[in-house]
Amino acid sequence: MFDKLTKQPVDKIMQLMQMYREDSRDGKIDLGVGVYKNAQGVTPVMKAVKEAERQLLESQETKAYVGLLGDPAYHDAMIDLVLAGAVAREQVAAAATPGGTGACRQAFELIQMANPEARVFVSNPTWPNHLSILKYLEIETVSYRYFDEDTRAVDFAGMMADLDGLKAGDVVLLHGCCHNPTGANLNLTEWQQVVDKLNAKGAVPMIDLAYQGFGDGLDDDAAATRLVAASCPETLIAASCSKNFGVYRERTGILLGVSADASKSALVQENFSFLNRQNYSFPPDHGARVVTMILTDPALRKMWEEELEETRLGMLKLREQLAGELQRLSGSDRFGFVAQHRGMFSRLGLPSEAVDKLREENGIYMVGDSRINVAGLNEKTVPVLARAIVDAGS
Ligand code: PMP
Repeated sequence: MFDKLTKQPVDKIMQLMQMYREDSRDGKIDLGVGVYKNAQGVTPVMKAVKEAERQLLESQETKAYVGLLGDPAYHDAMIDLVLAGAVAREQVAAAATPGGTGACRQAFELIQMANPEARVFVSNPTWPNHLSILKYLEIETVSYRYFDEDTRAVDFAGMMADLDGLKAGDVVLLHGCCHNPTGANLNLTEWQQVVDKLNAKGAVPMIDLAYQGFGDGLDDDAAATRLVAASCPETLIAASCSKNFGVYRERTGILLGVSADASKSALVQENFSFLNRQNYSFPPDHGARVVTMILTDPALRKMWEEELEETRLGMLKLREQLAGELQRLSGSDRFGFVAQHRGMFSRLGLPSEAVDKLREENGIYMVGDSRINVAGLNEKTVPVLARAIVDAGS
């Protein structure tokens, strides 16, 4: 049986991580992998997480199964964090999932179960795993224009023109904030226009919210998600706690389904439960429990919000430093977009030869499409990167 298996495509980011590890040069810089790193290059356990885990170690008396959908207290805390009352609680069905990836996977399967004809519209570009899972599930995808290669901002006119191709029942996958891989985002006026378009077409929004708190703040980063959920009759939301709680390996995410009324919501909930049962039965609990403790305990929450804010402002500062340095060295404003982008990533728009040159000659590792993880930088490495980019002729 095993010899009938075929080789699978290599994951480009995993391959880049491997190359970085094997590079023995001092001063190499990793801007590839999508995890937050502080100025010392460490992905820290957040203080509130450590404290919640300490309390949990003391107080937890059983590891018995929780429930197929996870802990209801986790649902409530996350619904509040993401939606903050934008819709009534009874309109929302929820399922804990293994990370944001698990939530995306379950959402795609639900779409397929509900409407096998539905196509999923995806931004060009999007997080590669969206495309990979959709392909694996044999769901038809349609890409819509998103990134303007010249301005490195959103090609909003192109996006709206491509959304004109929507048919009733199609799904549009949107990044709630901090678009991965580009870093370019819609403003709220544009979001409203997208909502109007979806409603006019009878299409269903699916929001991937993987970086709440990494862009403009916890509430601002969820504003688009709240607007969509409150304005469209049905919305799917896949949220991840990996980045904003730093609990990557604990696999902590949630799938939300917002319906117009409570009776529909019960049906959605039942189907979420069915999907969890088929795919992994009970979702992981540890990360979800820690997140619930942090969100519901005022002291832990304060500690978490302060550290998250520090993280966010640190990344913004690096963006401004990099944009400033590039402006100084290149004598032009063409990299000003770096300071406008939000979240961990920016697509710089460098040609692939420049990306290769930076890796081979300078030991600077970024993804082939010239996406950098801003958190891979620090005050000292920003000028090194800026100099290398300008020297590479970009
Ligand atoms: N969506 C996007 C856009 C992401 O960038 C990520 C993380 N790379 C995820 C979802 C899922 O993250 P996780 O499964 O680690 O929670």
